[in-house]
Amino acid sequence: HLPARCVGRFAPSPTGPLHAGSLVAALASWLDVRAHGGVNPGQSGQQGGQWLVRIEDVDTPRCVPGADALILSQLAACGLLPDAPPVWQSQRGALYQAALDQLIAQGLAYGCACTRADIARAHEVAGRHKPRHGELVYPGTCRPDAHGLQAGLQGRTPRAWRLRVPDGEGEGSGNGAHLAWTDRRLGPQSQPLDTAVGDFVVKRADGLWAYQLAVVVDDAAQGITHIVRGEDLADNTPRQIWLQRCLNLPTPSYLHTPLVRGENGEKLSKQNGAEPLDLRDPCAALTQAARVLGLALPATTASTTVGDVLAQAVSAWQQR
Ligand code: GLU
Repeated sequence: HLPARCVGRFAPSPTGPLHAGSLVAALASWLDVRAHGGVNPGQSGQQGGQWLVRIEDVDTPRCVPGADALILSQLAACGLLPDAPPVWQSQRGALYQAALDQLIAQGLAYGCACTRADIARAHEVAGRHKPRHGELVYPGTCRPDAHGLQAGLQGRTPRAWRLRVPDGEGEGSGNGAHLAWTDRRLGPQSQPLDTAVGDFVVKRADGLWAYQLAVVVDDAAQGITHIVRGEDLADNTPRQIWLQRCLNLPTPSYLHTPLVRGENGEKLSKQNGAEPLDLRDPCAALTQAARVLGLALPATTASTTVGDVLAQAVSAWQQR
């Protein structure tokens, strides 16, 4: 059951043009808002909900100049028009700083001097194996003790900021660090924050804001109620819910969409050379994206418009 008002968003990183995989996330988030009940379901505007676009350009070394404008024009070609002007994360540093200040004041964030090599060495010393994917769990080297002392700094200068995650031990339960949440498609999920990620970075050593902090601050600031995005981001959700709790922000509902896989079975991404969307035929691109979402739309003809495909997709989404 959805609340009366639904605010959704598409939050692309401008690292390249949209591809077939990113269109799925864009379309799903748009459909979820438009299909949402209201006085004018299927219409843009306050009653039927609001769909926003946020350009996530905090990781500046990965951003490609012009990709933001290109993405917005690709969305427009597909009839996916935001209900308010897009925002750029690169202009919102003051909001992220205020959130970090709050976390520091609460004793929840601390400065960290560890390099990747330091972290790898700490794992080696502890006899732990390197995970094959992803970041190493932070071993807590720089974490302050009960008196706020950071013995692990050993005279080094902190450069990054990390957020404390709850420890699994204590409270007698033995699983105090399992963060549980329910995804609208994937169902009940749970992640032990301490053993799966550890205290995680909210501001990077190079001075850039971490995705986790920026996304949580912006989703709250923009009043997002329904997050719809690709399944590859599902394992970030527990960190984001933890951050929401630390910052006393509401937790939106989450739906993670199926991924489009390339011929090698890997997730389609700009990094593995996904082709930009072919927008000579936006109806075909939309129909294909809808199919990934499990929505079977009627075959398009020469006279089918983008508006027709979107309207069919809205009713298919409502009936699914
Ligand atoms: N900017 C992120 C990406 O393009 C998505 C963030 C989100 O939807 O939470 O992968």
